[in-house]
Amino acid sequence: MFIYFLRNVAVTRIIVVGGGAGGLELATKLGRTLGRKGRAKVTLVDRKASHLWKPLLHEVATGSLDEGVDALSYRAHAKNHHFDFQMGSLEDIDRERKVVKLSELTDEHGELLIPSRELEYDLLVMAIGSTSNDFNTPGVREHCIFLDSPEQAHRFRTEMNNEFMKLHANNGNGTVDIAIVGAGATGVELSAELHNAIKELRSYGFDDLDSSKLNVNLIEAGERILPALPPRISSAAHHELTKLGVNVRTATMVTKAEADGLTTKDGEKIPAKIMVWAAGIKAPDFIKDIAGLETNRINQLVVNDTLQTTRDDNIFVIGDLAQCTQADGSFVPPRAQAAHQMASRAFYNIVAKLNGRELKPYVYKDKGSLVSLSQFSTVGSLMGNLTKGSMMVEGRIARVVYISLYRLHQMALHGVFKTALIILMGRINRVLRPNLKLH
Ligand SMILES: Cc1cc2nc3c(=O)[nH]c(=O)nc-3n(C[C@H](O)[C@H](O)[C@H](O)COP(=O)(O)OP(=O)(O)OC[C@H]3O[C@@H](n4cnc5c(N)ncnc54)[C@H](O)[C@@H]3O)c2cc1C
Repeated sequence: MFIYFLRNVAVTRIIVVGGGAGGLELATKLGRTLGRKGRAKVTLVDRKASHLWKPLLHEVATGSLDEGVDALSYRAHAKNHHFDFQMGSLEDIDRERKVVKLSELTDEHGELLIPSRELEYDLLVMAIGSTSNDFNTPGVREHCIFLDSPEQAHRFRTEMNNEFMKLHANNGNGTVDIAIVGAGATGVELSAELHNAIKELRSYGFDDLDSSKLNVNLIEAGERILPALPPRISSAAHHELTKLGVNVRTATMVTKAEADGLTTKDGEKIPAKIMVWAAGIKAPDFIKDIAGLETNRINQLVVNDTLQTTRDDNIFVIGDLAQCTQADGSFVPPRAQAAHQMASRAFYNIVAKLNGRELKPYVYKDKGSLVSLSQFSTVGSLMGNLTKGSMMVEGRIARVVYISLYRLHQMALHGVFKTALIILMGRINRVLRPNLKLH
């Protein structure tokens, strides 16, 4: 319907940078509507060739999920949804000339594939997400894995499998020592997923491995795990993890990482072969001074309630990269559900802007938070700020709702019918493929 009103408007160049949880949904919606009717030229830029929904990374890390099955090629998706895809890494924005600058693209041997280039825009959407924040803790960058990308998740899986292989070759004598810093959803989910991985490995010939061979320390500086969730959910998750054999250490601040482990503020050494840092996020460092836009202390771009940057209303920001203030003065949390909702609001506002209509404010609707403890349990709260008090859920219902967040993302990308086929394919793959990615 809004397309009809755009009939007399020249083709607008819309660039979405970052094809993640928020950006890919937005580019798809824009392509399906404005792109399909030739009312806008929609271009998605991402530094990677394929999309994998970030909350799945801990499952990729432990091999519970085969990335090859769930990853989506940007080029193929763009072709089917009437937008262009440009592979490249954003390095700067020139707001006066309205161009984004992409750095040159090289292969793994350093050979030039595509030289650096500029793309012109009329409207720009920034959606490049966040990275782990090491708070400048010495040694972390050198020795810890950040679960920010599929490559990091693969690195974790390779190191983990190697350790399991060594242990197996040693007739199961010893332990695999893993330390995870940060007991937010990522750290908690990864700790549980590791126990699932070792359980599955037993059935693939590693019969001398079991949970007792896994020494997982989950380290949290705060007083309780899952600090962003209500205390009773934290304690339910804490209880489940302890039952699995995870060594949960709260009120423990890590001050240094070395090749053989972590040192705490109290001077204690926690030995570990594999270390994961999941203790907070920040936007990429190059955003800090980008194009004179307003940024905060963790490099996020500050937006007003319409999701436009405070200093340039031709630039929208969605997802983890945005600092968006809510009515109560708090900030919208960096979550997939926020990225999903922001994509819808930005879509509405972009169309409204093109039609000369009033833009609407984005209001975060917290539908609750769920934490998957792999196959063992799922705990969390539902309805978040939609009710006065959140409703605690556990077990099967919680698992179904947890999975539904990913299904919503898939539906935004593929529609209901194709998503149903993907679910069916997943069921078939469960019969055809091993439960664990073993290579
Ligand atoms: C292990 C893990 C588990 C999580 N679990 C949950 C969960 O259960 N529930 C929940 O709500 N949230 C969860 N989150 C958080 C959630 O993943 C993020 O909030 C969400 O992905 C943010 O979406 P986004 O679109 O802002 O960024 P992302 O989804 O991170 O996408 C950013 C995109 O930008 C691209 N990009 C980055 N830099 C550049 C550049 N310079 N140039 C071009 N492209 C670039 C990246 O390749 C990527 O495709 C989890 C996060 C992690 C790491």
